[in-house]
Amino acid sequence: MDIVRAAVIRGIGEKFEIADITLAAPIGQEVLVEVRASGLCHSDITVAQTGMGVSTPIVLGHEIAGVVKAVGPLVTRIKVGDHVVAAALQPCGRCPACLRGNLNACSNPGALDRDPSEAECRLHDDCGCLGQLQGLGGFAEQALIHENQLVAIDKSMPFPQASIIGCAVVTGCGAVFNAARVSPGQSVVIFGCGGVGLNAIQAAKLAGATRIIGVDIQQAKLDLARRFGATDIVDSSQVDAVDAVLGLTDRAGVDHAFVMVGVPAVAETAMAVLGFGGTTYLIGGMAPGAELTLHPSPVESGILPRQQGIRGLWLGSSNFYHDIPLYVDLYLRGQLNLDDLVARTIDLDEINEAYEALEHGAVARSVITFPPRG
Ligand SMILES: [Zn+2]
Ligand SMILES: [Zn+2]
Repeated sequence: MDIVRAAVIRGIGEKFEIADITLAAPIGQEVLVEVRASGLCHSDITVAQTGMGVSTPIVLGHEIAGVVKAVGPLVTRIKVGDHVVAAALQPCGRCPACLRGNLNACSNPGALDRDPSEAECRLHDDCGCLGQLQGLGGFAEQALIHENQLVAIDKSMPFPQASIIGCAVVTGCGAVFNAARVSPGQSVVIFGCGGVGLNAIQAAKLAGATRIIGVDIQQAKLDLARRFGATDIVDSSQVDAVDAVLGLTDRAGVDHAFVMVGVPAVAETAMAVLGFGGTTYLIGGMAPGAELTLHPSPVESGILPRQQGIRGLWLGSSNFYHDIPLYVDLYLRGQLNLDDLVARTIDLDEINEAYEALEHGAVARSVITFPPRG
């Protein structure tokens, strides 16, 4: 049992409260991770403010890098002292989807949770049990996580840069490499140049795309888009994005359009700039009940006759056991820029103000860092 500091959400709509919580000792395939860096993803604050089906109290935080402190008796893939990155997926490892490597389609993600009839909860405080978002709970000095959600990484990898791989990087790079399979010479447009969008931009550059168009309404994000490899930028607060993107592609339209923001009108814009056989990928989550209207592409006749498509993606269609070490390797070789994605590092008790900054359009990620515990 370990007592650690954590940022707890007591009720939906409330702010993070810094509190002492108790972690149970690892059993079965559980791993106790000393968290060294924890990224502030936008979806945590969406959960804190709107609930999205989770119950409180809960410890959020799903972009985690740290050092393994202890392992349960059945753990085989991870050992004490390993540096690990966590993934926001709970693959059971046994269902047909998991066996095919489609981890985000696992049909039995609850299999990794503790059975409340057999064991105490993993996290608790004086008021009772605390939940963990997606089995993680990274906004804390330590986290107790099933080994199926962890990947050991190269120890030369810095923790803040490693932490954001678990969500922002696998989502943005995975969309380009795994789902779209962008190939040399193709054209892409990215709507929304925040953390996920910048990863899609640099992945498209690595994949050999020759026209990479970043679209956003903030000049600071468009400047970053250029630094990450955008060949062209469009400020959609100033110009019509459909006209601008079609103009940049000699009216032919793009091969791939990535929509990082959960706004139906932006998805409709993306459909309108597709070329023959192009696909729109929806990555930013939309509000329940959101509706899309698919207008015929102004490129030519209509949508379906030109073999265009629209597809939702979740966590970059990633097999994170393969992809997380790959992105670590690309970073260490200087081919993936993660340094400019970590805008600043903060202490745990700065979490509320850092999320306020993110809400007000701060660029890239803040990452909580924790000093090593003696
Ligand atoms: Zn995330
Ligand atoms: Zn499964």
